[in-house]
Amino acid sequence: MTRTLPPLDARIPEWDTGDLIQRDCPVCASRGGSPVYIRPDTLTICRCGSCSTYYISPAPSERQLAGFYAAYDERHRRAREASPKQLAAAYARTDPFRDIRIRVLSSLMQITDARVLDVGFGRAQFLYYVKKAGGIPYGLDPDPKAIEFARYLGIDNVYRSDLQNFNTEFPFDLITLMDLIEHPLQPMDILRKSVQLLAEDGYLLIWTPNGESAGDEESPIAFRVDLEHMQYLTPASCQYIASGLRLQIVHLETLGYPSLDGIDKPLAAYRSGSHPAIKILKKVPGLAGLDAFRRRLLHPERDERRGAYHLFCIFRKYRLPSAT
Ligand SMILES: [Zn+2]
Repeated sequence: MTRTLPPLDARIPEWDTGDLIQRDCPVCASRGGSPVYIRPDTLTICRCGSCSTYYISPAPSERQLAGFYAAYDERHRRAREASPKQLAAAYARTDPFRDIRIRVLSSLMQITDARVLDVGFGRAQFLYYVKKAGGIPYGLDPDPKAIEFARYLGIDNVYRSDLQNFNTEFPFDLITLMDLIEHPLQPMDILRKSVQLLAEDGYLLIWTPNGESAGDEESPIAFRVDLEHMQYLTPASCQYIASGLRLQIVHLETLGYPSLDGIDKPLAAYRSGSHPAIKILKKVPGLAGLDAFRRRLLHPERDERRGAYHLFCIFRKYRLPSAT
């Protein structure tokens, strides 16, 4: 039985329903997933009976999605305005080890001198953390603003390229796909290409909305926000990916909460506003403990391990057997 989900995100794309394509499971290619939800944008979410991935089918065509992303910044991007200078100042105050991904990675690998490629790096925060932790950051992003942010932060190995057309003469020790794999119609192409670019024994990190979190909710939040998402992976999808791409799962957890601040507000109001409590704090000079208080306001994710909104998986590429 399919359940029609009520709106939550104020940004509801208007898809051309005459230009939709049927899809098989985008992870394991099984046919005949069961329709389970109708999203607020009228698209149907199916669940794969084989690998348990949730995916949109029928989905907007490649051509239609390309048009959507061409106007994405103007019509859809939910980010407060910030200049490179403001971002640099904010990042300079942060400790990379507050980021759970850096913490977990550093327990698995040596970040110092590691070559790290972040695909779709956006505001370059993760690249900045990698640099601060002693790694060598590389980034890909189609958005010229993203390139500008990274360069301002002193990160020069950044390219306006998509992953499929990117090649290097050296392999990477780590490739990160954060808030990325839920977008393309062919997510396995991205994963396959990532594995190609990895060193033997290299790591691949994915961070994406957790489809399985839907099981706990009457009207799953993950399926009512960011309606450009075309699939929602689950821990079982990760198992399938590992077996299909000769990877070993070395870390798998679900954690955190969705960012819902202002999600139901029109974009213009959201982008120009700052956190109301921060505005007040700025007016109180010399307030004791201000920094700790401000940190708590800016990092409400401190109990993130209690949530289950994100899927956080790290794979390791198997070393090829030696020829001897
Ligand atoms: Zn599947």
